[in-house]
Amino acid sequence: MLTSPPKTYRVKSFGCQMNVYDGDRMAELLAEQGIAPAPEGEDADLVVLNTCHIRERAAEKVYHDIGRLKRDDGTSPLIAVAGCVAQAEGEEIMARAPAVKMVVGPQAYHRLPEMVRAASAGERVTDTDMPAETKFASLPRRRRSGPTAFLTVQEGCDKFCTYCVVPYTRGAEVSRPYAALVDEAQRLVESGAREITLLGQNVNAWTGQNAKGQTVGLEGLVRELAAIPDLARIRYTTSHPNDMTQALIDAHGEIDKLMPFLHLPVQAGNDRVLKAMNRSHTVESYLEILERVRAVRPDIALSGDFIVGFPGETEAEFEDTLKLVDAVRYSQCFSFKYSPRPGTPAATMDGHVPETMMHERLLRLQAAVDRDQLAFNAASVGQTCEVLVERRGKLPGQWLGKSPWLQSIHFIGEAEIGQLVPVEITSAGPKSLAGTQLVILAA
Ligand code: SAM
Ligand code: SF4
Repeated sequence: MLTSPPKTYRVKSFGCQMNVYDGDRMAELLAEQGIAPAPEGEDADLVVLNTCHIRERAAEKVYHDIGRLKRDDGTSPLIAVAGCVAQAEGEEIMARAPAVKMVVGPQAYHRLPEMVRAASAGERVTDTDMPAETKFASLPRRRRSGPTAFLTVQEGCDKFCTYCVVPYTRGAEVSRPYAALVDEAQRLVESGAREITLLGQNVNAWTGQNAKGQTVGLEGLVRELAAIPDLARIRYTTSHPNDMTQALIDAHGEIDKLMPFLHLPVQAGNDRVLKAMNRSHTVESYLEILERVRAVRPDIALSGDFIVGFPGETEAEFEDTLKLVDAVRYSQCFSFKYSPRPGTPAATMDGHVPETMMHERLLRLQAAVDRDQLAFNAASVGQTCEVLVERRGKLPGQWLGKSPWLQSIHFIGEAEIGQLVPVEITSAGPKSLAGTQLVILAA
């Protein structure tokens, strides 16, 4: 059925920061076609559901969201399903959900405008190709940014951890070219970014050729970006222990703009489990990396990802994870119950751990992490900390921002969005800090 071309769009992104980045790029693409963002609270003519396949029952949630888009008169907006669920289950979505007119994979969304035209002409279109040329060259140049911005530098993964769908949904590891990244970073800074977080499924596997034609790793890119005068902070995520080179570790001791924060997922604290996960590092080699990072940057805040209840995980093996947490003292962590992903080797392994046991392990792990997170935050009380102001708080005179160690801080003061201001920390909780701005800006 022919529909008139959409005038307004809404992009709903779920899951990781890379999806947030992709969602922003899709929004820019649609805006370039003259389609406007739908005003808050109003129906959009075109809705992009930018999905994540990592969480449990991901596909079910997508069908639920599609159902909720149905209007009272029985019609639906033009619906596009994008992201990793689209890549993994696109055909089934098309078969099960007639309201969906477009299925677009994470490597194909630069073709969204053509797909929207075809869908408006009554076609149903699927594009889950993983073309050799990257989508990035076809995307519009960046024109807007808040004080913090994401910049995808690397995509895909060749590691094939046995529980993970990413190598299947995002494809092989690809690094974007150095010059394109420097250009995109400069544009983000010109449009207001003071902090850039470099993103990749294995961001520290990024490699490229610098302006002199030398092959460099992520530290080379960070060094170049640190030379952009108005860029104040650089972060990167997510890293794999095996790609944590000494050069990148050294950069933490040498480049002031590289923030003292490292997210280095370990997944489990037991070598048998790590081997079954195909993580290709051991507990000892992981701890040794952290030691080297702490040697060059003693104040570094450490973060990690954990999976509890991987098939075959015993109580004693889970307790090894708690011991690892005790040894590291993370400033924050993400922890997940193992969830079987169709097509991954772990899904058909023996010894699936009962849900109640996984739940109980998750609570114990989170209690240990919360304890360390609170201790880490409490150590800031009475200290002065530089905060990058991201937005206004709900209370009069209240502002929200982040410390160099990625702690969320709300403070009372007279700031402006995008400024770096000194804040005296007055109290700490497990998830955030509160404080007072020390220098009030002149009117
Ligand atoms: N590349 C990163 C790494 O190596 O750790 C992380 C990528 S993955 C998108 C983010 C996190 O989701 C993983 O670190 C893992 O803890 C979690 N995860 C992935 N697959 C999972 C599964 N099947 N069940 C539970 N958690 C999972
Ligand atoms: Fe997934 Fe990360 Fe393992 Fe790659 S390294 S397979 S993205 S968990």
